[in-house]
Amino acid sequence: MHGQMMSQPLLISSLITHAETYHQDGAIASVSTGGGIEETSWGQVARNSRKLASALSKLGLEPQARCGTIAWNNRRHLEIYFGTSGGGFVCHTINPRLFPEQLVYILNHARDKVLFIDKTFVPLVAAIRDKLEHLEHLVLMEGQDAGAAEALPGLVFYDDLIASGDDDYVWPEMDEFTASSLCYTSGTTGNPKGVLYSHRSTVLHAFAVNLADSVAIAARDVVLPVVPMFHVNAWGAPYACAMSGAALVLPGPGLDGPSLVGLIDRYKVSISLGVPTIWLGLLGEARKSGSKLESLKRTVVGGSACPPSMITAFREEYGVDTVHAWGMTEMSPIGTVNQPLAKHSDLSEEDQHSLRENQGRPVFGVELEILDDEGNPLPHDGEAQGALVTRGHWILDSYFLSTREQTLSNGWFDTGDVATMDRDGYVTIRDRSKDIIKSGGEWISSVELENIAIAHPKLADAAVIGARHPKWDERPVLVAVKGEGEEPDEAEVLAIFDGKIAKWQIPDRVVFTDVLPRNATGKVLKRNLRESFGDVLMGDA
Ligand code: ADP
Repeated sequence: MHGQMMSQPLLISSLITHAETYHQDGAIASVSTGGGIEETSWGQVARNSRKLASALSKLGLEPQARCGTIAWNNRRHLEIYFGTSGGGFVCHTINPRLFPEQLVYILNHARDKVLFIDKTFVPLVAAIRDKLEHLEHLVLMEGQDAGAAEALPGLVFYDDLIASGDDDYVWPEMDEFTASSLCYTSGTTGNPKGVLYSHRSTVLHAFAVNLADSVAIAARDVVLPVVPMFHVNAWGAPYACAMSGAALVLPGPGLDGPSLVGLIDRYKVSISLGVPTIWLGLLGEARKSGSKLESLKRTVVGGSACPPSMITAFREEYGVDTVHAWGMTEMSPIGTVNQPLAKHSDLSEEDQHSLRENQGRPVFGVELEILDDEGNPLPHDGEAQGALVTRGHWILDSYFLSTREQTLSNGWFDTGDVATMDRDGYVTIRDRSKDIIKSGGEWISSVELENIAIAHPKLADAAVIGARHPKWDERPVLVAVKGEGEEPDEAEVLAIFDGKIAKWQIPDRVVFTDVLPRNATGKVLKRNLRESFGDVLMGDA
């Protein structure tokens, strides 16, 4: 029909063009890999991104060529995010914490033609370079560096590369369904799988990040994405910040408490995003240093369950609102965000606080259902728990180089999580389906037990696994790491569960260990814990 709206594709280049046009002075602070902080602007980042896209085209790369990155959160990485995707190439972020064999697998599977690396990763890449079958250009994200050039013959330097790009480069037009970026899941079992995002899914996801009931980034905000840019496009924050024109603080390699507190106070950070373990380190340092984290309004926490004790500490000691969110690589990643409803303001303060502990409600653009073992939908009553499945505008349709049939069931993607949902859509993640503990026909959530245990003043870390049991099939065992200088015994640790959960859910045993094994995205490797401690109850009757 005539007389309609314009048809404009949703492109990542439109985000950086917006930031360049209307927020050219918007501040970007970036911790350099070699130390020191660079201060630049959206205008400069946009110009460099265009020059990078131009330079990549001049190298003769074909459209959709994969450009890998192994890098920290810094200014050049931000330019690569926009320059590669904006230029019609695919930005393939790679997690440096993967094993070398996994890195080789991923780089070959994705057929990366270009690889951008931070100086930290020169030895890592030097060790695997001969095995990278498709690699044509290796770029160090620095100016000239003789040492690195010696370790990696043929190395190109980022600053030289963008100098070869044209100032008047114009972003190409393309279909909004064109692939824009690629991220592999960490693959705790089997080979990592690729998730290929499109321009459209990325821009729509950025809108969702910026919704008022979501992360809600405004132009007046200063955002610190602690979540690494090699992890699920840093939860959409780089795109959402360009969309809103917010200032960005990119923390580089130092994600320890003192470095983060220093950045928050120096740049008056108002919003930060990251996984729970990072915030535990930050809280410890803030307490030690006496910083009041004055500028910080909210932290967005996801990636694994946020311990309620941490939400309380942020609120009561620092006046910081902790926003609990849930998602995954296959969901770009945002699925749910915990924000209150109007009716909650009538509740007691305590009830209001406890409502903030679950993973929150789906944002528009994401549909969620919980299913029983036969695939039938379960009631949204906050009680029934089942497999959490999803579909939506930024949810995976099929893994990279795989088929829809291998990925979806009846058009829904199974998240691998077990959850409940209440009538308002609030989701509580009970567990990963493979980690939930099946004790004599009843299910026990390892996450719930961990949330309680982690608040124990004498523990530094805690995880709960299902250990084999001669009578009950499985029973919970708490694997605990003692706090510095603390020597709690089993009974003292277990006392923390008293009155908080039903007696039959309390772990049968506490085993102490020095450190919990974690995967490349910081999640506890429960499979390894089950291998080490899965039989400790087999002598029990
Ligand atoms: P992976 O590569 O391991 O899949 P993701 O970061 O994509 O890495 O992990 C997604 C998974 O992390 C989710 O399916 C869920 O089990 C867990 N997760 C993420 N956020 C939360 C949260 N807020 N609470 C509990 N679990 C979470």
